Amino acid sequence: MQNALKMDDRLPNKSYLLRTSVLSGISLFLSLIALFFALFHVIHRSELFLAFVECILSAYSYLIYTQLKQKRYPKRYILYYAYYLMFMLLVGTYFQPIAQGLFVWSCLAPIVLYLLLGIKHGMYTSGLFLAIQSAIIIMKLNQSETYSMLESMFNLVLCYIGIWIVSHLYESNRSDIENSLMYLASRDSLTGAHNRLSLSTSFHRFTSTKKEQQHLSLLILDIDYFKQINDRFGHDIGDKVLIETSLIISRIVGDENLFRIGGEEFCITLFDVDLNEAKKIGEKLRHTISNHLFNFGDKRLQLTLSIGICRYRNGDNLSDILKLADIELYKAKKNGKNQVRICQADAQTSLEDDVEQYKSA
Ligand code: GH3
Ligand code: MG
Ligand code: MG
Repeated sequence: MQNALKMDDRLPNKSYLLRTSVLSGISLFLSLIALFFALFHVIHRSELFLAFVECILSAYSYLIYTQLKQKRYPKRYILYYAYYLMFMLLVGTYFQPIAQGLFVWSCLAPIVLYLLLGIKHGMYTSGLFLAIQSAIIIMKLNQSETYSMLESMFNLVLCYIGIWIVSHLYESNRSDIENSLMYLASRDSLTGAHNRLSLSTSFHRFTSTKKEQQHLSLLILDIDYFKQINDRFGHDIGDKVLIETSLIISRIVGDENLFRIGGEEFCITLFDVDLNEAKKIGEKLRHTISNHLFNFGDKRLQLTLSIGICRYRNGDNLSDILKLADIELYKAKKNGKNQVRICQADAQTSLEDDVEQYKSA
C-alpha cells in the first residue's frame, strides 16, 4: 500500500502539453540561431570561445527538439537546458560590450524559466539570474566607467521585476486552475473518492511500470440493503451515508486507493498486497463499518458491507479483474451478505476461462 501509485498521473496533464509545445518551438529556433551565430563568430570575429559555447547550445537544443518529437520529456535535460540558456545570456553579457545591449534579453528570462521549470523552481532561478546578471553589469559599468548607463540598468531591473511578478502570478493562477480541473476530472462529486477514470489511470500505470512478482489485489465493496436506507430515511441521508462510508474506508486503505465505481459500490486497489493480506484488510473494513453507528441528528443507523476480492495476474485487463471480483461479490450477496469472499480461481486457469464461466453461469 505504501507504494500505491498516484492516481492522476495519467489524466490529461496540461502543464506537460504546454511545456512540450513551448520547448519544442524554443529548442528548434535556438538550435538554428545558435548555429548561425557560432559560424558568424568564427568567420567574422574569430571569437572561438563564444562560438564553442554557441555550438554546444545549438547541439543541445537540437537534442531536446528530437527528444520532444519522439514524445519524450526528459525532465533533467530540460532543467539543464534552462540553466544553459541563462548561462549563455550571462556569458554573452560578460564578454560583449555593454553598449551592444545584449542584457536587454534578460527580461525574457522569468517567462522562459517559469514556463519550463514551474512556479517554485522558476521563482528561485529568476531571482538568482537577476542577482548574477546585475552583478556582471555593475562590474562592467565600473570597469568602463560608463556611468550614463546606470539609468538604463535601473530601468532594466524594474522591467525585469515587473515581468517576474507577472510571470509568477500567471503561473500560480494557471497551476491552480489546472489542479482544480484535475481534481474535478478524477473525483466523484458526491463523496470526493476517486472515480472510474482514475481507476483505469491507476491500473494502466501499474501494468506499465509493474516489476516482476509485484502484487495487486482488487476489492469490490457494496453496501448491503442500501435501497432500504434510501426508502426509510430519504435520499439525503443515503447521500450522507455514502460520504461517511467512503471517509471511513479511505482512512483504512488510503484516499489514493479508493474509487467509487457505482451508486453504493466502491473499488479498492491494494498494491503490493497478496490475497491473504487483502482478505484481512477486507475483514477489517467489514468490521469497522458494521460496528460504526451512523448518526444524523435524530436518525441513527448501522449497515454492513459485502466484499469480493481478486488478484492481478500477468496480462489481465481491468474489466476482467473487476468482473472476477464482482463474481465473488455476487456470491457473498447470495450467501447472506455481510461477508468477504476471495477469488479462488486456480492459477492455471486462464482469466478468459473464468470470465466465460461467469458469463455462462
Ligand atoms: P444489495 O443488498 O443486494 O446490495 O441491495 P441494495 O439495496 O444495496 O442495492 P440495489 O442495487 O438494489 O440498490 C442500490 C440503490 O442505491 C438504488 C439507488 O437508488 C441507490 N443509489 C445509487 N446512487 C445513489 C446516490 O448517489 N445517492 C443515494 N442516496 N442513493 C443512490
Ligand atoms: Mg448494495
Ligand atoms: Mg450495488
